[in-house]
Amino acid sequence: MKRYKHCIIALVILTVSTVLGCAHVQKNDVVFQTSTINALLKGIYDGDVSYGELKSNGDFGLGTFNALDGEMIGLEGTFYQIKVDGVAYPVKDSMKTPFAVVTFFAPDKTVALDTTNNYTQLKTYLDGLLPSRNIFYAIKIEGKFKYIKTRSVPGQNKPYPPLVEVVKEQAFFEFQDIAGTIVGFRSPDYVQGINVPGYHMHFITKDKKAGGHLLECRIQNVTVEIDNIHNLFMALPHGGEFYNVDLAQDKKRELETVEKGTPHTGIEKLPIGGHP
Ligand code: ZN
Repeated sequence: MKRYKHCIIALVILTVSTVLGCAHVQKNDVVFQTSTINALLKGIYDGDVSYGELKSNGDFGLGTFNALDGEMIGLEGTFYQIKVDGVAYPVKDSMKTPFAVVTFFAPDKTVALDTTNNYTQLKTYLDGLLPSRNIFYAIKIEGKFKYIKTRSVPGQNKPYPPLVEVVKEQAFFEFQDIAGTIVGFRSPDYVQGINVPGYHMHFITKDKKAGGHLLECRIQNVTVEIDNIHNLFMALPHGGEFYNVDLAQDKKRELETVEKGTPHTGIEKLPIGGHP
């Protein structure tokens, strides 16, 4: 009787996965994203996916919040909101996101890394570890950093300005000799318009009190973990402004300005949590 029961359960699981047509997709081999980066660049800052729903699609990731209220970082199933004051706040399941990228982190490769001088050098080093430029990677870098520079953005009011305007109000944060974790993704060049081609990383301190969108870093010694990912799942909004916005334009230059944080704009702030 017991064996019979097991057979029924196995059959049900097999039937469900066949119907969904995803028998070959491993749960931890999917990049799950909400909306598109070009929609965010166009000022679509209200999404319909809650953090409760997002958590069922990943325990690791980055993104933002409705009204563009800060930078999000997700690590080991806990999500944090780094507001424009640079402080990391807990995220409620009921909060929503217009753009987020998550996965269930399961590293394929782990390496120790000592000393890199800057973010560009780190990216070149990481490129050398990857088997292909044409798949997705989730990347976790944990340890000690000599220097970190991050930014966050203030929440917006309607009518929402485009992202390239909002970053003029961004705040920068600098950390010296700080322990923490970088959470990021590397996406292929062909995702232009959908996600951020190349590297996109966020940082949080070890004490989970501060962080932001990563602009610069100097590594002291860290552990780098890389998760090779072969599936992309996009959850697009079920209506609202997303339905009518023109997403056909090339936003490559605007994206570069937004991602690199254009150091001549924005407000320099004193370091928060600048302790080892
Ligand atoms: Zn970011």
